[in-house]
Amino acid sequence: MKYALVTGGSRGIGRAVSLRLAKAGYTVIINYQSNEQAAQETLQAIQSQGGQAELLRFDVGNPESAQSALDAWQSSHPEDYIDVLVNNAGIRRDNLLVFMEPDEFETVLRTNLFSFYHVTRPLLTPMIRHKHGRIINIASLSGITGLPGQCNYAAAKGGLIAATKSLAKEVAKKNVTVNAVAPGFIKTDMTDGLEEAELKKTVPMNRFGSAEEVAALVAFLASDDASYITGECISINGGLYT
Ligand code: NDP
Repeated sequence: MKYALVTGGSRGIGRAVSLRLAKAGYTVIINYQSNEQAAQETLQAIQSQGGQAELLRFDVGNPESAQSALDAWQSSHPEDYIDVLVNNAGIRRDNLLVFMEPDEFETVLRTNLFSFYHVTRPLLTPMIRHKHGRIINIASLSGITGLPGQCNYAAAKGGLIAATKSLAKEVAKKNVTVNAVAPGFIKTDMTDGLEEAELKKTVPMNRFGSAEEVAALVAFLASDDASYITGECISINGGLYT
């Protein structure tokens, strides 16, 4: 049994990644924070396509919550380890820096960047011990170019890209690869409130991407075909940034 943990696997990009990895034969551990119904829907969607999955609820931004959930999972699966980790859970709280409240800055950093530490660190030793692992961090175009209103989010995603490159160098010899994916505009709940008609004009492909398109890239990075790719940040944005 090969396990893949997808944080924020219940909705949006995470749901598409969960479905895709389940199709590739992984038992998918779907993490979520609060939307139980969405998590159940993703679980059922995987089961109805003949795949296997389980739910693991915890707040990726909370170190105790993450550690105790991962410890509990390991205790109930003593013979297994998580081979693929997709650090996908994320939020945005956009505001111009001059108006940004401390909580808007801190919550975004906690959820989008500190989560990398909280979730990756406990899973790293088993990957190293088994001499195989895949870590895929969902970053953002914003973390490469910066965007107005996103000092918090861009800082978190830029930090995530830098952490990806550092960790890749730490564990390369152990056959654990660490890569980031940087999406542009993708149609999910996160981009629901945006002016799609206007914003898509800025995209050379003249459309938002789909969660499934991102999931295909993540599945490739998780596969054996990507065994010599590590420390990379791959953009997927319809040509918005090259
Ligand atoms: P959605 O808002 O559609 O889904 C977010 C997911 O993350 C949900 O499953 C949610 O679970 C989960 N989540 C949020 N906070 C936490 C938390 N503290 N602990 C555990 N789970 C949490 O987002 P997207 O699918 O659009 O985004 C996924 C990733 O892709 C994010 O990292 C985002 O920054 C990134 N991204 C998205 C882009 C886009 O255009 N959509 C562009 C670039 C990057 P629950 O419902 O239970 O809260």
